[in-house]
Amino acid sequence: MSDFSISMSTSDGDVEVKELENIVIVGSGPAGLTAAIYASRANLEPLLIEGFPSGGQLMDTTDVENFPGYPEAVKGPELINDIREQSIRFGTRIISSEVVKFDLTGSEKVLTLEDKREIRARAVILATGASARYLGLENETKLKGYGVSACAVCDGFFYRGQEVVVVGGGDSALEDALFLTKHAETVKIIHRRNEFRASRIMAKRALENPKISVIWDSVVDDLIGEPDKEGLTGVIVRNVKTGEKTEISATGFFVAIGHDPNTGRFSDQIKLDKMGFISTEGATSITNMNGVFAAGDVMDPRYKQAITAAASGCKAALDAEKWLIENYA
Ligand code: NAP
Repeated sequence: MSDFSISMSTSDGDVEVKELENIVIVGSGPAGLTAAIYASRANLEPLLIEGFPSGGQLMDTTDVENFPGYPEAVKGPELINDIREQSIRFGTRIISSEVVKFDLTGSEKVLTLEDKREIRARAVILATGASARYLGLENETKLKGYGVSACAVCDGFFYRGQEVVVVGGGDSALEDALFLTKHAETVKIIHRRNEFRASRIMAKRALENPKISVIWDSVVDDLIGEPDKEGLTGVIVRNVKTGEKTEISATGFFVAIGHDPNTGRFSDQIKLDKMGFISTEGATSITNMNGVFAAGDVMDPRYKQAITAAASGCKAALDAEKWLIENYA
């Protein structure tokens, strides 16, 4: 194994930051953390910048039932914590900050943190994940935190005994709806088509739950309520087949219509596909920029699973290791 270590280093609280890092991983979901496990076991001494909030989407998830190795399911945050501990065990250094500026163009990549510190690296793995999408209605923005949320797990508790709505027809929407039945009196799912995109097992559970009803073929036209007064009170729903509009009463409105990849801070440098995800060479993690690799939901428009994110983190670390050997060993 080649020795990539660089002697000069500066101290950053408890975290030693080298003058030039071999590899910096940006993001702390299953992709970034798995990349960190592989990179640290390859003696690359990775520095991981975890972003905010750390841990990615699994931090907002209740039971993860499909991650291999957990026959009785595992809580999302617990799974993240386990992978994080595993990466630290092999020497990963973790900085709790956002990268606010990326310069990925030179042979030394420069990442600027919130406190304006610059981190220099030979290789970078982008594992910045994806963020919840909203419908884009004016009142939706106005009522965020006053009834409107994209995180049922975070906010569901506040709706004990109330009427809530979930928008979407994928696994996230149904998972959210099922979670909300623990608190809310009724949960109405509004879906724009007449069948769910979600897996059959989730669809069956949702349809069989007595607290859940589905408003099919319908979209949300507007939300009613005032942020500083009573908050959300109702939702205007339009049937896309008949055009008929109805107002339904609700105090909670949970949007679960998918996620957009977090590429905004480097989209001027890294090639994206037409949906906005990072383009990689074939089935690898290699991006258009020399020494820059991508993993997880930021480059995956198709599978978007915790296990596929973890696998792509592994691939990115292996690709980066090979690239470092070819270029610096
Ligand atoms: P998704 O599968 O992309 O589903 C998004 C849903 O939102 C779709 O039903 C879509 O409708 C609807 N939608 C999108 N834009 C909309 C708009 N502007 N207005 C109204 N509805 C809109 O996203 P997801 O549910 O977040 O799931 C993402 C991935 O994570 C999937 O691969 C899923 O399997 C996975 N996941 C798995 C689990 C689990 O296994 N426990 C849990 C959560 C998520 P259409 O169907 O008409 O397109």
